Amino acid sequence: MNHLGARIGLAGLGVAAVFLVAGQSLVSSPHLAGVISNLALLAVAGWAGVTFALRARVGSPGLRSARILFAGYCFTWLLGRTAWTFYEAFGDSAWPSVSWVNAVLVAATLVAIAGGFCLSTVPVGAARLRSVLDGLLVGFALFFVAWTFVTSPVIDAGGSGADIALGFAYPLADIVLISVVTMALPELPAQLRKYGYLFLAGLLCIGVADCAYAYLAATGGFRSGTLVDAGWLLGFGLLVLSATLAPPRIEERFSRLTALSPRALLLPYLFLAPVVVLSAWYVVSGRVLDTEMVLIGMASFVVMLVRQIVTVLDSEARAESLVFQATHDSLTGLWNRAKFYDYLASVLSRRGETRAVLFMDVDDFKDLNDGLGHAAGDEALCCVARRLEGHMRKDDVIARLGGDEFGIVLRSVRDADEALRLAERVNKAVSVPVVVHGEQHEVSASIGVALSGTHGETAGVLLRNAELAMYAAKREGKSRCALYDPSMHVNVLDRVRLLSELRTAIEQDQFRLHYQPKYDLRSDAVSGAEALLRWQHPEKGLLSPTSFLETAEQTGLIVDIGRWAMQSAFLFIGSLRSEDVISTTFEICVNVAPRQLKEPDFIADVTRCLALSPLQPHQLVFEVTESAIIDSTVLPALWSLKSLGVRVALDDFGTGFSSLSYLDRFDFDVLKIDQLFIADLDRSQSRRAMVAAIIEMAHTMGLISVAEGIEQESQLAALRELGCDGAQGYLLSKPLTEAQFVSLLSQTTPAVV
Ligand code: C2E
Ligand code: MG
Ligand code: MG
Repeated sequence: MNHLGARIGLAGLGVAAVFLVAGQSLVSSPHLAGVISNLALLAVAGWAGVTFALRARVGSPGLRSARILFAGYCFTWLLGRTAWTFYEAFGDSAWPSVSWVNAVLVAATLVAIAGGFCLSTVPVGAARLRSVLDGLLVGFALFFVAWTFVTSPVIDAGGSGADIALGFAYPLADIVLISVVTMALPELPAQLRKYGYLFLAGLLCIGVADCAYAYLAATGGFRSGTLVDAGWLLGFGLLVLSATLAPPRIEERFSRLTALSPRALLLPYLFLAPVVVLSAWYVVSGRVLDTEMVLIGMASFVVMLVRQIVTVLDSEARAESLVFQATHDSLTGLWNRAKFYDYLASVLSRRGETRAVLFMDVDDFKDLNDGLGHAAGDEALCCVARRLEGHMRKDDVIARLGGDEFGIVLRSVRDADEALRLAERVNKAVSVPVVVHGEQHEVSASIGVALSGTHGETAGVLLRNAELAMYAAKREGKSRCALYDPSMHVNVLDRVRLLSELRTAIEQDQFRLHYQPKYDLRSDAVSGAEALLRWQHPEKGLLSPTSFLETAEQTGLIVDIGRWAMQSAFLFIGSLRSEDVISTTFEICVNVAPRQLKEPDFIADVTRCLALSPLQPHQLVFEVTESAIIDSTVLPALWSLKSLGVRVALDDFGTGFSSLSYLDRFDFDVLKIDQLFIADLDRSQSRRAMVAAIIEMAHTMGLISVAEGIEQESQLAALRELGCDGAQGYLLSKPLTEAQFVSLLSQTTPAVV
């Protein structure tokens, strides 16, 4: 589209050039020259319309509307010119004259004027006044020229009322259009501005051709296929070029005040040049200026003077706005990191009262942003910013440090306890659900606190320590505040080391899977196994997933590790199935992390594994925890798994905040009762009652119940009594290596101890 459009635009310019250089001498018949130029015009104007229309699908709302209206301009012009071409080819000799065709062509320009106004979302104040004065200046200057060359000669020629109307309407419509576009140009985003000049040049060519046509038509000298057509061709060719070459996706809001480019400032004066030249020529040739021209000239002069004053005011406002933009966050209007840092450095240099630096990070903001879109994320951030502002004491300062991070400096803090208390209050104020797109979303934040003097002397150190404390708050379970402690440094180093070791572990194949048998409590047979990840660390030996899963989750490494675990479990259990060691009802349970479910390739990976394996889809059970389904963006992946015939279990049931409500969110197949409930099942009556209720509820909902972490005979006996379907635990079997697991299966009737 881009290149084709540019080529057609250039072709239009080429045809125009041929007309300009060789004129009609190339084509002997004037009639034929007319037909050729008419057809060329229809093609180029049509293409300009198509280009604008296609580009109207993207960009900021103002730009899109402008593009739609410019497309409307081209198509309306095309309509008028098609009728024109038809009249010339088949109509009577009275053509060209004022007719509905001319009305359509002038109306086309009115549509373009509306488009120009859409571009011109100029900011308020002096900037708006200056741009209006620019428009007036250009309008007056052009009217001066048009009056001299078109309107006045048409009146002098004693043409009919219709001719005089032509001599007024065409130049006037073009002048307004050019003025409006010139007015909008300086405020266009920088990437778009140079194509704006191209567009303006096109409009000027069309304007000149319109004026020439209006004059010649009124004086009886117009004929198609002459230089006037070349002007239109050149004009629409430039429009095609400007539409094609301009970057389509300009999402920038136009209304932001930026520094004015000198070129944009001088542009309106350029239009005054012909006025000066014309006036000089009048004076030199001893001709008398019409009263109208003198009036227009004087008006231009006054407008120019006022504009000069307004430009000074505008520049001051822009300078202020630039300073504001450099020190404030554009989304929330709060201070930005640089300003916050400068402020902190300056208050610390003045020794005196203790200040507390709070580093706040919105919990799970990425999920909200990814799940609901960036606009929703922005809305939530603004809402958090407003809450912080509403909650601050006088003289406390807040800043957005970047992304979902906010910084706060609290003054006059007595000690660490008071700082923590104040931080808790801030956290409470922020942790209220936000309504985004009409839906409520939970919001919480983690805050790290560092005190001046105790935890650092400089702005850099304090901010870093508050950030470390924030990470500690996240690790402790989010939605809380933590005071900086020097040991946090060690933790950070540990985490960095762990991350690099995990990467090596993936590359060097250091992960293993152990299989914990799952027993059917009715038949007492091994009915399946849960694949549990282990890390064969070169120095620390065999590590349980709890020591590295969190880091793997946070860094996204879990995606690769999880994929490996799934493939390995499939390969091993698949080989057992091929050798008939297990039956077609044996289930392999694989734990899956939320991050994996959000991977676009996850379902494709599962499908591929299933296709390559002798196992049936129903033999695969994916285990997800409650914390995974808090985030509803994982639900589509879970539904896709179900549609593949794979089963899904809700793991660690009962450990989340509101377990019951999550059961409603998805059509689970299995409910795994957490070991927390099983641990004192035989000691506490209330626990027993709860487990009984869970099993009962699972059955009512058509779910299979499996109990985890059974360590005592009495627990197993209680579960049997309560009618639990499946069981896992050290009492029955610890997680086993592949060899141990095969050996267990080879015992003909795997007995329940
Ligand atoms: P989980 O899915 O609830 O797995 C059960 C955990 O309880 C396992 O710990 C298992 O070894 C342990 N366990 C089993 N029976 C008993 C018992 O009788 N008493 C006690 N005290 N513990 C028992 P493990 O292997 O350390 O795994 C911990 C968690 O790590 C798992 O909890 C699971 O959420 C996660 N995990 C394990 N493998 C993977 C994996 O491949 N991918 C993902 N995303 N998570 C995994
Ligand atoms: Mg599990
Ligand atoms: Mg579990």
